[in-house]
Amino acid sequence: MKNRMFDVVIVGGGISGCALAYVLSKYTDVKSIAVLEKYGSLAPLNSNARANSQTLHCGDIETNYKLEKAKSVKQQANMLVHYAEMVDKNDFLYKFPKMILAVGDDECERLKKRHEEFAEDFPYMELWDAERIAQVEPAVALIDGKPRPEKILACGCTDEYSAVNFGNLSKSFINSARKTNTELNVSLSSKVEKISQFDDHYELQTSQGTFMARFVVVSAGAHSLLLANQLGHGLDMSILPMAGSFYYVPKMLNGKVYTMQNDKLPFAALHGDPDLIEMDKTRLGPTALVLPKLERYTGGTYWDFWKSLKLDGKVVRVFWELLKDSTIRNYIFRNFAFEIPWIRQKLFAKDAQKIIPGLKPEDLEYATGIGGLRPQVINKTDMVLQLGEASIVPEGENLIFNMTPSPGATTCLGNAYRDAQIICERLGIDIDNELLSEELLDGQACR
Ligand SMILES: Cc1cc2nc3c(=O)[nH]c(=O)nc-3n(C[C@H](O)[C@H](O)[C@H](O)COP(=O)(O)OP(=O)(O)OC[C@H]3O[C@@H](n4cnc5c(N)ncnc54)[C@H](O)[C@@H]3O)c2cc1C
Repeated sequence: MKNRMFDVVIVGGGISGCALAYVLSKYTDVKSIAVLEKYGSLAPLNSNARANSQTLHCGDIETNYKLEKAKSVKQQANMLVHYAEMVDKNDFLYKFPKMILAVGDDECERLKKRHEEFAEDFPYMELWDAERIAQVEPAVALIDGKPRPEKILACGCTDEYSAVNFGNLSKSFINSARKTNTELNVSLSSKVEKISQFDDHYELQTSQGTFMARFVVVSAGAHSLLLANQLGHGLDMSILPMAGSFYYVPKMLNGKVYTMQNDKLPFAALHGDPDLIEMDKTRLGPTALVLPKLERYTGGTYWDFWKSLKLDGKVVRVFWELLKDSTIRNYIFRNFAFEIPWIRQKLFAKDAQKIIPGLKPEDLEYATGIGGLRPQVINKTDMVLQLGEASIVPEGENLIFNMTPSPGATTCLGNAYRDAQIICERLGIDIDNELLSEELLDGQACR
């Protein structure tokens, strides 16, 4: 594929890149598209079912979301549900019961208030007492058949989509895109080494030759920032790679059990989930650990970590602000300890007993090879660790760089629509907003 000019080249064959290829192919007049993926298959890293929690984040069980954020995430989650309704083969979207679990008086009170506030927008969520929780998830409410000692309350539902195999969904997007676009080129084992800018196009050097593009979208996870920096963009950003590990227990839960978020802790609270690739097991996690590399289970990205961290006084100050708080400090050290073989089972069991009170350390098995990395962005201008997604869209240039930690897989179609609008506007190409809104957004505008 040497020296061919494409309208759009997408770097990264994870869920973000594949969703964009689909949206451009189906809803716009952009036809010549190339997707360049470094490894030999689609969704090999964070979008793979082994790497993430497989949750369709709808804002209903994530207590770290305020109502507005929850409504926006729900709309984007529904885009996936509508997509699934349109395809012939759905091997990616599943229904399991799901709940937020509150343990103790304080959490129960907070959950009750949240339920009232969210009731109008999430009418399917019910408040469950201990008896009802025991019907849905006996292991959560009972120890050896008797009620657990603490007061518990849950907010849950049993008939909603809650789990996604985002790896299979990535492949489905490409298959669907190919049905409407014969000019879609997916090039695997094509690592983009360098992007060069010319007057009216860009050139991408890869191991498979040079690709030319009128517009480039980089959705390469943590590596997006390095490619942006090469072109002089995003220099006020650093990447903090937060690894998430998991533990397995034999199947103890029927569905997803999320816990209440501690407002001070920046990363999602522990949860228990069915595993779509190991259905006889329950997965618990994720943990949160800073790792000095940009990809979890591949070698050789340590130097890339240092290049994208760009350690200086500002980064040190952001770390210092985080570590100053004893809750955050203890959380970081505790999560580090969750990786130490001799003690991790015992320590993790203590936290996991909040979800499954009868769980014993010996029930736990460290899930080797399971888990991924969230590329959290440090914004050096505002001196903060950004918790959500980050994009760099340079003014007047045909470039977008996306860094998508959680819930970036759930919001892939919403993000793809946002990028497609920018691409079409800048290239002067038509986009069928009406058809997209009708098929994916219940006829509404995207929030
Ligand atoms: C532990 C954990 C749990 C999570 N749980 C959830 C969840 O339950 N629900 C949810 O919605 N989200 C979840 N997330 C977040 C979600 O996994 C990510 O937001 C999503 O997978 C990001 O997709 P992506 O395509 O942007 O990035 P990735 O999946 O990381 O894909 C980037 C791709 O770019 C490729 N690439 C990199 N550099 C180059 C290059 N130079 N040239 C060519 N290709 C390149 C990589 O090989 C990779 O395939 C979780 C994340 C973690 C780590």
